[in-house]
Amino acid sequence: MDALAIDGGKPVSGHLIGYGHQDISDRDIQAVVKTLRSDYLTCGPATEAFEAGLRLATGAKFVAAVANGTAALHVACLAAGIGSGDEVIVSSITFAASANCVLYCGGIPVFADIDPYTWNISSKSIREKITSKTRAIVAVDFGGVHVDSEEIRKICDEHNLIFIEDAAHAIGTSHGGRQVGSIADITTFSFHPVKTITTGEGGAVATNDPVLAARVELFAKHGITRDASLFHNPDEGGWYYEQLELGYNYRMSDIQAALGLSQLERLDDFSARRREIVSIYNSEFSKIPEVSFQKDTTPEETTRHLYVLRFDVESLGVNRKYVFDALRAENIGVNVHYLPVYRLPYYAFLGYNSDCCIEANHYYEEAVTLPLHCCLTNEEVEHVIGGVKKVVEHCKDGGRRISR
Ligand SMILES: *Cc1c(COP(=O)(O)O)cnc(C)c1O
Repeated sequence: MDALAIDGGKPVSGHLIGYGHQDISDRDIQAVVKTLRSDYLTCGPATEAFEAGLRLATGAKFVAAVANGTAALHVACLAAGIGSGDEVIVSSITFAASANCVLYCGGIPVFADIDPYTWNISSKSIREKITSKTRAIVAVDFGGVHVDSEEIRKICDEHNLIFIEDAAHAIGTSHGGRQVGSIADITTFSFHPVKTITTGEGGAVATNDPVLAARVELFAKHGITRDASLFHNPDEGGWYYEQLELGYNYRMSDIQAALGLSQLERLDDFSARRREIVSIYNSEFSKIPEVSFQKDTTPEETTRHLYVLRFDVESLGVNRKYVFDALRAENIGVNVHYLPVYRLPYYAFLGYNSDCCIEANHYYEEAVTLPLHCCLTNEEVEHVIGGVKKVVEHCKDGGRRISR
């Protein structure tokens, strides 16, 4: 057996294989340049065209492009009417923004545990966390795998809750033929460079509900409207507008939207390549009993953003840090998604209990994110697989003895 790179051996890859990377084509660049030479850098035709493209891609009747995925979550919560003291049930294994958006509104995030196989929010745990103060659910399509929306819809209908889907990972995913964006009451997206399509920074809010759509529009644009049908006072003329809410400037620029539209045209290709890599990983890793991957019953409908592998650290006789460091030394740019949000110091200061979600804590002890993006070559994919096999073999061979 070759020595592990962490012990001074030769790494499986000669260069660092990053976990995520944007894929920018010459056409993407030309689209941005064309907008830069145009009359509108914001509030122009590129934003309108991107929003129209997103309506097609999501099947939603209304889409607002916004500054980033966090802003999208914030306006989604504002549109849902989340305010002081309202409880919102949130996935525990997610990026902090999924919960921060509730705090921005004065609400209280309540963390639900994850399902041990799909790693998405557990419907059983949601039911346990509902109180008379619960107003909404923020459910994250972890890694791009669609949440259990049928069950969540049922819970929302029973308890009169708003279903917010944080689909930052899931543009391009569908469920039973319905695209993500047209399933929940409100769906949010992120176009950060590691996500499946990018605008540099950017996000979007999608809904089929005209009332929610109008509120999203208002809160994302200063709370200001030029729609005379909403005015409280008489229309004073062509210059006149009214501010009706304390909104924010969360607009996306036309420069970003031009990139977004060009990227959106490539979404099917991106989805196919991501799916292909996931299926190669799954077929290789299903041969290794010490690792497990995310359960997805409809992979043909999923556009995957992240590929996480769980290492059975107990049977391997090492901890996750050792696996992580060993893979990094092999030049596999592994990462960890995510720390349970309730364990972040800010949340601990707020009084959240670090033991509130058993499955999420267990997941966190074992999870390592492998590279997944469209710039990966087949050779790099082979290196990632080779690196995982090499590290697992070494752990089985000597993990306990070396007592890491
Ligand atoms: C990336 C991400 C966000 C935030 O998006 P930004 O565009 O970075 O603000 C929110 N939720 C999840 C699950 C994410 O992965």
